[in-house]
Amino acid sequence: MAAKLIDGKAFSQSLRGKIATAVACLKHEHNVTPGLAVVLVGEDPASQIYVKNKARQTVEAGMLSFEHKLPATTSEAELLSLIEELNADAAVHGILVQLPLPAHIAEKAVIESIAPCKDVDGFHPENVGQVASGEGGVVPCTPLGSLMLIKDALGDLSGKTAVVIGRSNIVGKPMAQLLLANNCTVTIAHSRTRDIASVARAADIIVAAVGRPEMIKGDWIKPGACVIDVGINRVDKLDGTGHRVVGDVAFSEASEVAGNITPVPGGVGPMTIACLLANTYLAACRSVGATAVDIF
Ligand code: NDP
Repeated sequence: MAAKLIDGKAFSQSLRGKIATAVACLKHEHNVTPGLAVVLVGEDPASQIYVKNKARQTVEAGMLSFEHKLPATTSEAELLSLIEELNADAAVHGILVQLPLPAHIAEKAVIESIAPCKDVDGFHPENVGQVASGEGGVVPCTPLGSLMLIKDALGDLSGKTAVVIGRSNIVGKPMAQLLLANNCTVTIAHSRTRDIASVARAADIIVAAVGRPEMIKGDWIKPGACVIDVGINRVDKLDGTGHRVVGDVAFSEASEVAGNITPVPGGVGPMTIACLLANTYLAACRSVGATAVDIF
């Protein structure tokens, strides 16, 4: 393997340590404990695991965790009414509604009902607009975590070419905005992009956020490029004994060509939760007018 492994697990651990120290300081100086409310509707097993991990890490960082587990039959009106209560609750600084929601609930209505100052996912249109125009706003957790890993690996990104593969509102688009804000020349590739391999091959930085197991091959990568694999895909094991998790990048061949590469698991995934905690800490600071410690 030629590429240097980007260890998101270690990086996120160190970030969570900094957040815990900052939280203790906020408690001491302003008598405020950041609180994160996580709302889960239904019994999706993957979502249940994410929510459990989020709650554990929230408490480990010295914050309050409020879990709301609702049945899959919950109506949109009931969910909106809970969000209204959480918006008004002074102990709650961040609200996260675990996606996807059951089909009978409109995600858009739910996202827009969260008070922008408590929208620690950064999905509310007000935050989306502010991030896009460089006026602050809450930065979505996965792109924020990915950017931190890229900057740690490469330092100044000015003038670098970046290709983001995937254009979703939660990963691809905000990722491209952040790279642009860091003076990269950014291309966004998607399912209609022609000759995507040669588009990718021009990049100093590739961020893969597609949701297709091992789609990005070794020969799509410019030698020495930094490869960030956001994808989380469950595939059946060849021997039929369950499943394994792989990214959107064909890791073993890509790591022969790339300069730096994230593994899956252990790359972007742990950064997402750490950045959620960071956003909750920042929201708590804003709520009392406290100056946030530089945790990034
Ligand atoms: P979406 O399904 O919302 O978006 C996927 C994007 O990939 C779309 O823009 C789509 O293009 C594009 N795409 C699909 N097929 C192709 C193809 N063959 N060639 C080029 N582009 C293609 O996914 P998300 O952005 O929500 O998530 C992407 C991946 O990241 C998933 O594996 C998800 O599980 C993972 N993820 C990981 C997180 C983490 O914490 N590590 C957090 C969030 C997501 P088009 O728009 O044209 O349809």
